[in-house]
Amino acid sequence: MRIVVDTHTHTIASGHAYSTIQEMAKGASDNGIEMMAVTDHGPDLPGAPGFLYFHNLKILPPSIHGVRIIRGVEANIMDFEGAIDLPERFLGKLDFCMAGYHEPCLKPGKVHDHTRGMVRALSNPYIDAVSHPGNPKYQVDIEEVVLAAKEHGKLIEINNHSFAVRTGSEENCRQFAILCKRHGVRIVTGSDAHFSDSVGEFGKVYRLLEEVGFPEELVLNTSVQKIDAYIRERKERIHSLTERILF
Ligand SMILES: [Zn+2]
Ligand SMILES: [Zn+2]
Repeated sequence: MRIVVDTHTHTIASGHAYSTIQEMAKGASDNGIEMMAVTDHGPDLPGAPGFLYFHNLKILPPSIHGVRIIRGVEANIMDFEGAIDLPERFLGKLDFCMAGYHEPCLKPGKVHDHTRGMVRALSNPYIDAVSHPGNPKYQVDIEEVVLAAKEHGKLIEINNHSFAVRTGSEENCRQFAILCKRHGVRIVTGSDAHFSDSVGEFGKVYRLLEEVGFPEELVLNTSVQKIDAYIRERKERIHSLTERILF
Protein backbone atom coordinates (compact mmCIF):
# COMPACT_ATOMS: atom_id res chain seq x y z
CA MET A 1 0.00 0.00 0.00
CA ARG A 2 1.32 3.43 -0.88
CA ILE A 3 -0.38 6.63 0.30
CA VAL A 4 -0.10 9.36 -2.35
CA VAL A 5 -2.68 11.83 -1.04
CA ASP A 6 -2.49 13.75 2.22
CA THR A 7 -5.97 14.93 3.23
CA HIS A 8 -5.01 16.91 6.33
CA THR A 9 -2.49 19.80 6.32
CA HIS A 10 -2.28 23.24 7.91
CA THR A 11 -0.64 26.36 6.51
CA ILE A 12 0.51 29.55 8.17
CA ALA A 13 -3.10 30.75 7.87
CA SER A 14 -4.07 28.48 10.79
CA GLY A 15 -2.13 30.77 13.12
CA HIS A 16 -0.03 28.01 14.75
CA ALA A 17 1.44 26.37 11.63
CA TYR A 18 4.56 27.60 9.93
CA SER A 19 4.59 27.13 6.15
CA THR A 20 2.79 28.75 3.24
CA ILE A 21 0.68 26.75 0.78
CA GLN A 22 3.56 26.87 -1.71
CA GLU A 23 6.01 25.56 0.88
CA MET A 24 3.58 22.83 1.91
CA ALA A 25 3.15 21.81 -1.74
CA LYS A 26 6.94 21.69 -2.17
CA GLY A 27 7.17 19.50 0.97
CA ALA A 28 4.45 17.27 -0.46
CA SER A 29 6.28 16.93 -3.75
CA ASP A 30 9.59 16.17 -1.99
CA ASN A 31 7.85 13.46 0.03
CA GLY A 32 6.21 11.75 -2.96
CA ILE A 33 2.72 13.13 -2.34
CA GLU A 34 0.68 13.76 -5.51
CA MET A 35 -2.32 15.53 -4.01
CA MET A 36 -2.74 17.56 -0.84
CA ALA A 37 -5.80 18.94 0.92
CA VAL A 38 -5.29 22.34 2.51
CA THR A 39 -7.42 22.03 5.65
CA ASP A 40 -6.78 25.07 7.78
CA HIS A 41 -8.67 25.34 11.06
CA GLY A 42 -12.20 26.69 11.13
CA PRO A 43 -12.70 30.34 12.18
CA ASP A 44 -13.53 29.77 15.85
CA LEU A 45 -10.12 28.35 16.78
CA PRO A 46 -7.98 31.24 18.11
CA GLY A 47 -5.67 32.49 15.36
CA ALA A 48 -7.54 30.69 12.57
CA PRO A 49 -8.65 32.51 9.40
CA GLY A 50 -12.12 33.99 8.86
CA PHE A 51 -14.92 33.10 6.42
CA LEU A 52 -13.37 35.03 3.53
CA TYR A 53 -10.20 32.94 3.61
CA PHE A 54 -12.26 29.83 2.87
CA HIS A 55 -14.44 31.65 0.35
CA ASN A 56 -11.40 32.81 -1.61
CA LEU A 57 -9.59 29.44 -1.76
CA LYS A 58 -11.16 29.20 -5.23
CA ILE A 59 -8.40 31.44 -6.59
CA LEU A 60 -5.73 28.78 -5.92
CA PRO A 61 -4.35 27.08 -9.02
CA PRO A 62 -5.36 23.41 -9.41
CA SER A 63 -1.78 22.32 -8.74
CA ILE A 64 1.33 23.83 -7.14
CA HIS A 65 4.82 22.33 -7.63
CA GLY A 66 3.06 19.52 -9.52
CA VAL A 67 0.90 18.65 -6.49
CA ARG A 68 -2.87 18.74 -6.95
CA ILE A 69 -4.52 21.02 -4.40
CA ILE A 70 -7.82 20.20 -2.69
CA ARG A 71 -9.56 23.14 -1.06
CA GLY A 72 -10.70 22.13 2.38
CA VAL A 73 -11.19 22.94 6.02
CA GLU A 74 -10.83 21.29 9.39
CA ALA A 75 -13.89 22.88 10.95
CA ASN A 76 -14.62 22.84 14.67
CA ILE A 77 -17.46 20.92 16.27
CA MET A 78 -18.77 23.65 18.55
CA ASP A 79 -21.26 21.79 20.73
CA PHE A 80 -22.48 18.27 21.39
CA GLU A 81 -25.36 18.76 18.97
CA GLY A 82 -22.80 18.87 16.15
CA ALA A 83 -22.81 22.61 15.35
CA ILE A 84 -20.00 23.58 12.92
CA ASP A 85 -18.15 26.92 12.93
CA LEU A 86 -18.24 27.51 9.17
CA PRO A 87 -21.65 28.24 7.57
CA GLU A 88 -23.00 25.88 4.93
CA ARG A 89 -22.65 28.46 2.16
CA PHE A 90 -18.87 28.25 2.62
CA LEU A 91 -18.69 24.51 3.31
CA GLY A 92 -20.67 23.85 0.15
CA LYS A 93 -18.10 25.59 -2.05
CA LEU A 94 -15.13 23.56 -0.79
CA ASP A 95 -13.93 20.13 -1.98
CA PHE A 96 -13.35 18.41 1.33
CA CYS A 97 -14.61 19.32 4.81
CA MET A 98 -13.54 17.66 8.00
CA ALA A 99 -14.87 18.45 11.45
CA GLY A 100 -13.25 17.70 14.77
CA TYR A 101 -13.06 18.53 18.45
CA HIS A 102 -10.49 21.08 19.65
CA GLU A 103 -10.24 22.15 23.27
CA PRO A 104 -10.19 25.95 22.75
CA CYS A 105 -13.59 25.60 21.04
CA LEU A 106 -15.32 22.98 23.19
CA LYS A 107 -14.24 21.50 26.50
CA PRO A 108 -14.53 17.71 26.79
CA GLY A 109 -17.73 16.32 28.28
CA LYS A 110 -18.94 12.75 28.72
CA VAL A 111 -18.53 9.86 26.27
CA HIS A 112 -22.19 10.01 25.21
CA ASP A 113 -21.85 13.78 24.56
CA HIS A 114 -18.74 13.33 22.40
CA THR A 115 -20.42 10.50 20.52
CA ARG A 116 -23.60 12.49 19.85
CA GLY A 117 -21.68 15.54 18.60
CA MET A 118 -19.55 13.44 16.26
CA VAL A 119 -22.49 11.40 14.96
CA ARG A 120 -24.41 14.64 14.29
CA ALA A 121 -21.40 16.12 12.48
CA LEU A 122 -21.27 13.00 10.26
CA SER A 123 -24.97 13.39 9.48
CA ASN A 124 -24.29 16.93 8.19
CA PRO A 125 -24.27 16.61 4.36
CA TYR A 126 -21.48 19.18 4.06
CA ILE A 127 -19.08 17.30 6.34
CA ASP A 128 -17.03 14.51 4.75
CA ALA A 129 -14.96 13.15 7.62
CA VAL A 130 -14.27 13.50 11.32
CA SER A 131 -10.70 14.49 12.13
CA HIS A 132 -8.65 12.56 14.73
CA PRO A 133 -11.73 10.79 16.17
CA GLY A 134 -9.41 8.57 18.23
CA ASN A 135 -8.45 11.43 20.56
CA PRO A 136 -9.02 9.93 24.06
CA LYS A 137 -9.76 13.38 25.51
CA TYR A 138 -12.99 13.18 23.54
CA GLN A 139 -13.58 9.46 23.95
CA VAL A 140 -16.47 8.25 21.80
CA ASP A 141 -18.41 5.05 21.36
CA ILE A 142 -16.26 3.97 18.44
CA GLU A 143 -18.72 1.53 16.87
CA GLU A 144 -21.54 4.09 17.00
CA VAL A 145 -19.36 6.62 15.15
CA VAL A 146 -18.26 4.06 12.56
CA LEU A 147 -21.88 3.01 11.93
CA ALA A 148 -22.89 6.68 11.53
CA ALA A 149 -20.15 7.09 8.91
CA LYS A 150 -21.46 4.00 7.14
CA GLU A 151 -25.07 5.21 7.23
CA HIS A 152 -24.18 8.58 5.71
CA GLY A 153 -21.46 7.37 3.31
CA LYS A 154 -18.83 9.39 5.19
CA LEU A 155 -15.19 8.85 6.07
CA ILE A 156 -13.19 8.20 9.24
CA GLU A 157 -9.77 9.79 9.51
CA ILE A 158 -6.71 7.94 10.77
CA ASN A 159 -4.43 10.81 11.80
CA ASN A 160 -0.67 10.23 11.86
CA HIS A 161 -0.02 13.20 14.13
CA SER A 162 -2.35 11.83 16.85
CA PHE A 163 0.07 9.07 17.73
CA ALA A 164 2.59 11.72 18.80
CA VAL A 165 0.45 14.48 20.30
CA ARG A 166 -2.79 12.93 21.47
CA THR A 167 -1.57 10.49 24.09
CA GLY A 168 -3.53 7.28 24.19
CA SER A 169 -4.83 7.64 20.63
CA GLU A 170 -3.15 4.48 19.42
CA GLU A 171 -5.60 1.96 20.89
CA ASN A 172 -8.61 4.04 19.84
CA CYS A 173 -7.24 4.37 16.29
CA ARG A 174 -6.70 0.60 16.18
CA GLN A 175 -10.33 0.06 17.22
CA PHE A 176 -11.49 2.53 14.57
CA ALA A 177 -9.46 0.66 11.94
CA ILE A 178 -10.76 -2.76 13.06
CA LEU A 179 -14.39 -1.58 13.06
CA CYS A 180 -14.08 0.29 9.74
CA LYS A 181 -12.71 -2.93 8.22
CA ARG A 182 -15.55 -4.98 9.76
CA HIS A 183 -18.30 -2.61 8.59
CA GLY A 184 -16.74 -1.70 5.22
CA VAL A 185 -16.31 1.99 6.06
CA ARG A 186 -13.83 4.04 4.03
CA ILE A 187 -11.03 5.93 5.71
CA VAL A 188 -8.82 8.91 4.89
CA THR A 189 -5.28 9.30 6.17
CA GLY A 190 -3.93 12.67 7.25
CA SER A 191 -0.48 13.77 8.34
CA ASP A 192 -1.99 16.83 10.07
CA ALA A 193 1.29 18.55 9.09
CA HIS A 194 1.87 21.99 10.59
CA PHE A 195 5.21 22.37 8.78
CA SER A 196 6.20 21.60 5.20
CA ASP A 197 8.61 18.75 5.99
CA SER A 198 5.82 16.75 7.61
CA VAL A 199 3.44 16.59 4.64
CA GLY A 200 3.01 12.92 3.71
CA GLU A 201 4.38 11.58 6.99
CA PHE A 202 2.46 8.35 7.47
CA GLY A 203 4.83 6.00 9.32
CA LYS A 204 2.43 5.25 12.19
CA VAL A 205 -0.57 4.99 9.92
CA TYR A 206 1.16 2.41 7.69
CA ARG A 207 2.12 0.35 10.74
CA LEU A 208 -1.41 0.40 12.14
CA LEU A 209 -3.09 -0.48 8.84
CA GLU A 210 -0.68 -3.34 8.33
CA GLU A 211 -1.21 -4.62 11.86
CA VAL A 212 -4.98 -4.88 11.42
CA GLY A 213 -4.76 -6.10 7.80
CA PHE A 214 -6.74 -3.10 6.58
CA PRO A 215 -8.03 -3.52 3.00
CA GLU A 216 -6.51 -1.05 0.56
CA GLU A 217 -9.81 -0.53 -1.28
CA LEU A 218 -11.18 1.22 1.81
CA VAL A 219 -8.23 3.68 1.99
CA LEU A 220 -9.07 6.63 -0.27
CA ASN A 221 -5.58 8.15 -0.08
CA THR A 222 -3.86 5.46 -2.11
CA SER A 223 -4.86 7.10 -5.39
CA VAL A 224 -5.71 10.53 -6.76
CA GLN A 225 -8.56 8.91 -8.72
CA LYS A 226 -10.21 7.57 -5.55
CA ILE A 227 -10.16 11.03 -3.97
CA ASP A 228 -11.47 12.63 -7.18
CA ALA A 229 -14.29 10.08 -7.24
CA TYR A 230 -15.11 10.88 -3.62
CA ILE A 231 -15.17 14.64 -4.33
CA ARG A 232 -17.62 13.97 -7.18
CA GLU A 233 -19.74 11.92 -4.79
CA ARG A 234 -19.68 14.84 -2.33
CA LYS A 235 -20.74 17.31 -5.01
CA GLU A 236 -23.63 15.08 -6.09
CA ARG A 237 -24.74 14.73 -2.47
CA ILE A 238 -24.76 18.50 -1.97
CA HIS A 239 -26.36 19.11 -5.36
CA SER A 240 -29.23 16.72 -4.66
CA LEU A 241 -29.70 18.39 -1.30
CA THR A 242 -30.03 21.88 -2.77
CA GLU A 243 -32.44 20.52 -5.40
CA ARG A 244 -34.58 19.07 -2.61
CA ILE A 245 -34.63 22.44 -0.88
CA LEU A 246 -35.50 24.32 -4.09
CA PHE A 247 -38.29 22.03 -5.33
ZN1 LIG B 1 -7.36 18.96 14.65
ZN1 LIG C 1 -5.41 19.48 12.01
